[in-house]
Amino acid sequence: MQYNEKSFALGSKRSIIREIFEYSKTRANEIGKENVFDFSLGNPSVEPPKEVIDAVKELINIDNQTLLHGYTSAQGDLRVRTVVANNINQRFNVNLSPNNIYMTCGAAASLSICLKATLNDGDECVVFAPFFTEYRVFVENAGGKLVISNPASNLQIDVKDFESKITENTKAIILNSPNNPSGVVYSEEIIKSVCEILERKQKEYNKVIYLITDEPYRELVYGDIFVPYLMNYYDNTLVCYSYSKSLSLPGERIGYIAVNPKMQDSDKVYLAVCGAGRSLGYVCAPSMFQQVVAKCINAKVNIEAYKKNRDLLYNSLLEYGYDCVKPDGAFYLFVKSPDGDAYSMYEKAKEKEILVVPCDDFGVKGYVRIAYCVDYDRIKNSLPGFKELAKVYNLI
Ligand code: PLP
Repeated sequence: MQYNEKSFALGSKRSIIREIFEYSKTRANEIGKENVFDFSLGNPSVEPPKEVIDAVKELINIDNQTLLHGYTSAQGDLRVRTVVANNINQRFNVNLSPNNIYMTCGAAASLSICLKATLNDGDECVVFAPFFTEYRVFVENAGGKLVISNPASNLQIDVKDFESKITENTKAIILNSPNNPSGVVYSEEIIKSVCEILERKQKEYNKVIYLITDEPYRELVYGDIFVPYLMNYYDNTLVCYSYSKSLSLPGERIGYIAVNPKMQDSDKVYLAVCGAGRSLGYVCAPSMFQQVVAKCINAKVNIEAYKKNRDLLYNSLLEYGYDCVKPDGAFYLFVKSPDGDAYSMYEKAKEKEILVVPCDDFGVKGYVRIAYCVDYDRIKNSLPGFKELAKVYNLI
């Protein structure tokens, strides 16, 4: 074959989310956008903060446009990395230098780079179900093998199951909290248990196990919810961050990797990150948006808007008899299919013009995901459809 078969297979099989998104556009042309309730994509519905808009306006008017749009260092502009490192230090009481930071094109790039930097062929990488489906793609592309740790019934981590999944071949784990697709925030108690197991297993197998924490939703939490900063619990931690959701900038492709300076051989791991970025072609993250995030390092989107959506949707679906996991963060609601079949719920909802994502590929069977990062009115207008669907299942 002329081309790479694995890449062909990936390219020709679109993700179910993209598939639904395309269907939604076609359906909107047929019956009108206002009549299709598309809850498939995690595209933020809240405007980027005013500081971000102002920073973009200011930057496009500066004199030195060549500098603004030019290459930065492969790992990102030193001044930007300094601002990012200082901000993390201030917020989480750690001690990063700019040389622990690698600017990236969002969390997808951060993850791909970290996996490529840490895995060797055949190494195992444990992920916690339910998990972002692209993890499989990124892990396998780095030569690794994905191992799934099954959740407890409340979708927190089942620490016993996790421990049973660590073998002498485990090289890394990926932890995502607040979680896509469940909206669950892992408790500090659970995080401590996970880290204790990792420490013990490192000793038992006399090797390093990397904790890769995927944090695009860190800032999107509702109420007084504590999201532990993993570097404070486990030294061999790499943080994958993205401004896609926290500043509503998913199309601008900007984020970073932070390598814990307390990690074993931290400087070498950072160089492996630089090398992985180089081999994957992820060098010099978008220059202008590096400057934007440095200017807006403390900016926040209006989280209240997502909370209002969450409250309306969650409370209404509970009232209609659905079994949902209460999301403390991110902007997803994870709903159990009343007959245990995620695909049939997806099909039945589609008949009511409601588009949800069947989540069997996310590592737990029988759930659908509702991305509630949409206008409040869309949620309000979709409720009669959800109520009708509840009647189909005899929930009311
Ligand atoms: N990780 C998780 C858990 C996500 O939900 C997403 C995007 O939705 C990503 C990574 C990728 O984020 P980015 O757009 O910053 O590449």
